[in-house]
Amino acid sequence: MSARVLDGRALASHHRQDLAERVARVVATNGGRIPRLAILRNGGSPAAAMYAAGLERFAAGIGLATTTLEEPTAALFERVAELNRDPTVAGIVVAYPLADPELAQRIIELIDPDKDVDGATPTNAGRLLRGEPAFVPGTALAVIALIEAHGVEVAGRRAVVVGRSAVVGRPVASLLLARDATVVICHRATADLAAETLRAEVLVAAAGVAGLVRPDMVSSSAIVIDCGINPAPGGAGGVVGDVDPAVAEKAAAMTPVPGGVGPVTPMMVLRQTVESAERIARDVPTR
Ligand code: NDP
Repeated sequence: MSARVLDGRALASHHRQDLAERVARVVATNGGRIPRLAILRNGGSPAAAMYAAGLERFAAGIGLATTTLEEPTAALFERVAELNRDPTVAGIVVAYPLADPELAQRIIELIDPDKDVDGATPTNAGRLLRGEPAFVPGTALAVIALIEAHGVEVAGRRAVVVGRSAVVGRPVASLLLARDATVVICHRATADLAAETLRAEVLVAAAGVAGLVRPDMVSSSAIVIDCGINPAPGGAGGVVGDVDPAVAEKAAAMTPVPGGVGPVTPMMVLRQTVESAERIARDVPTR
């Protein structure tokens, strides 16, 4: 049997349309003022450049303005304070990695939690952990959006998350818990990974290890969400997930890589930016 394909491109396209309509409404009710997403960069990493360029393109596609600030670290401190005060700025995201990871954390901590549309600040991480409304990292929201868009009920089911990073594994686990799943989080010290994944009704792979989850580690009723984006072996370009593609022959449903979680992630950052813009438009009178 082949797994049902949980198509991220179609879902991203649906969100794009919906968000474009919501942005148009915000602009119309807010004196023509276009909400802005600010993207902070520091350092020349190709991954950060790609992330920033993708967000700029998708934001423009739904009618949002963007400002990408590529500055030395010290200048970023001042810029964040300005962006926090600026009512035209609905969201602030950091394009990882920054040149200096320690200073990056201090910059993130300065972002107004109400503009933290990629859920990076400790305040939003804490709110999420406490089960309170919060902005959430885009990838974690994308996992839930894919699950819900395909009518998968997680309440009362056993969900296994492989990976415990602050940007993917932990927030995914918190979101699944908030939806009443029984959640197991696996990591490098997990004694028997296959024993855990075999019991998963919903399995989320976020380990950053190509092909880590093999067919013998998955049950035939499992819904498998693959967050992995790893360079394809052999250096020929392209990406592969954390789940061996052969799992699609066994599991009940699975996201492809590419074309699963990846395309939905920026839409979730933009969805939170639009939510913030709608809130600002309600609170800030037109001048
Ligand atoms: P990190 O490297 O920060 O975290 C990886 C996690 O996986 C760690 O908790 C680690 O455990 C765990 N892990 C690694 N190897 C194993 C193993 N053999 N068995 C069990 N657990 C293991 O990665 P990220 O969370 O940032 O990213 C995970 C994947 O998701 C990557 O492929 C990344 O490219 C992708 N990603 C995709 C995004 C998207 O939009 N689709 C966005 C962000 C990331 P431990 O804590 O013990 O070290």
